[in-house]
Amino acid sequence: MEVDAAALKSKGFFQQVQKDKFSLRICSSGGMADTAFMKKAIEIADRYGGGQLHFTTRQQLEIPHIAAENVEAVQKLLSDEGINTFTGGPRVRTVVACVGAAVCKFGQIETYGLAKEIHTKHFGRELPAKLKIALTGCKNNCAKVEANDIGVRGVNHGYQMYFGGCFGHETRIGKPLLPVLAEKETVLKVIDSAVTFFAGNAAKGERLGKLLDRVGIDQFKKALEAAAQV
Ligand code: SF4
Repeated sequence: MEVDAAALKSKGFFQQVQKDKFSLRICSSGGMADTAFMKKAIEIADRYGGGQLHFTTRQQLEIPHIAAENVEAVQKLLSDEGINTFTGGPRVRTVVACVGAAVCKFGQIETYGLAKEIHTKHFGRELPAKLKIALTGCKNNCAKVEANDIGVRGVNHGYQMYFGGCFGHETRIGKPLLPVLAEKETVLKVIDSAVTFFAGNAAKGERLGKLLDRVGIDQFKKALEAAAQV
């Protein structure tokens, strides 16, 4: 069967080493999934996949071994259920989060709601390069936020933000460019400002940390401070 692997990848179906099989990545925000969502994922894995689910390192749910001829049926099922698939490439990626203060006794901030708000506003936005965001509830840093382009860590019930990190073939540690912020709404404004700066200034394929190396940190920091009003 002839397949357009690139087109399918943009819709969340990744061609496997077995060329006639695809692994579907389903999107979640903040690593939270309700049981209805999981039941639907299990149904897809049983009916069309190999009866397995894989949890990716960025909290996406992957369903491997979907035959090419079943991709269309799976797409219809996802669409009927309003389930989003993962997006890759030069875009805002899914937001990673630990369980935060809603569940964990160490949590200093609530992470799920914030992850959802960031996801709703920014997920899939086209950019010059990928942009990864992660949230973690306390200093234990289970979500390793400094390894992301934008990271948020709970500190004394406030929000410490980090910028310019990444982890992959290159590793960088994000820098804290603002004081600890008291309000979630301020964090959202700062993220808006950072994403807008990145969209307007980065070259193709240039991650935020590299952009800041090239243009210097001052202009970016000023934009963040204006958004945070600090
Ligand atoms: S980072 Fe802190 S709040 Fe989040 S899961 Fe780990 S210990 Fe709990």
